[in-house]
Amino acid sequence: MRICILGSGSSGNATLIVAGETRVLIDCGLSGKETMRRIQEAGEDPHKINAIVITHEHGDHASGLHVIAKTIGAAVFISTATLNACKLGDKVNKVKRGDAISSAQDFEVGDFKFHPFTIPHDAADPFAFTVEADGIKIGMAVDLGYYHGLAAERFRECDALILESNYETDMLRACTYYPWSLKQRIMGRHGHTSNDELARFLRDDFDGRAHHIVLAHLSQNSNHPEVARLAAIQALQERAPLFSSNAESRVKIANYAAPTPWIEL
Ligand SMILES: [Zn+2]
Ligand SMILES: [Zn+2]
Repeated sequence: MRICILGSGSSGNATLIVAGETRVLIDCGLSGKETMRRIQEAGEDPHKINAIVITHEHGDHASGLHVIAKTIGAAVFISTATLNACKLGDKVNKVKRGDAISSAQDFEVGDFKFHPFTIPHDAADPFAFTVEADGIKIGMAVDLGYYHGLAAERFRECDALILESNYETDMLRACTYYPWSLKQRIMGRHGHTSNDELARFLRDDFDGRAHHIVLAHLSQNSNHPEVARLAAIQALQERAPLFSSNAESRVKIANYAAPTPWIEL
């Protein structure tokens, strides 16, 4: 299995996962044109993508859906609650639907077995998931207020984890771009995950297996890649001697502006 995060952050999220001949795009928050460009930059042919999975309706995850789905002709796997909340109207009738999914039900796309689970976030039916193929398991959670017990349980035995590390609390408080109401939403239990909360997850709940921990959905205004990276590394090092020796090489950062290198598993 291999993974490329094409873009991650409030300006747009899209991730490509490949196993055998199955190619799945997770979320479509970049424009159609930009998504096509980044898929090609990652060395893939957009028209070979079999399916699109949408985690929730927020614009940074779904705004490019109808354009991308129509352009590449891939089947869209989206929950009915999420689709209704997308407000795409009859544009959605022009896209090919995959099976109706929900945050509570496992589903399959080609070689991939998806195990979604509900997360605390202010959307209609948002989910995080683990996905398995070829004996490899990855976990992905972005857009969640905190890592609840269910996430801790589902993320055991993952070979790679893509995890939100949205903001540094002091930077968010001091940020002059956001009104206080937005700050409260981000910091709320159904908002986004702070660097501290991800560090807590890594210290208390991470089982130590994943050798690739990708920090995702970093805020451009209230976080810095190096601040997020150091918080995660420090949390892993506190687990010494279990995995202090390679903490630095495990932690990677997803960028809002460009695809990550492929993570091969
Ligand atoms: Zn988001
Ligand atoms: Zn969201």
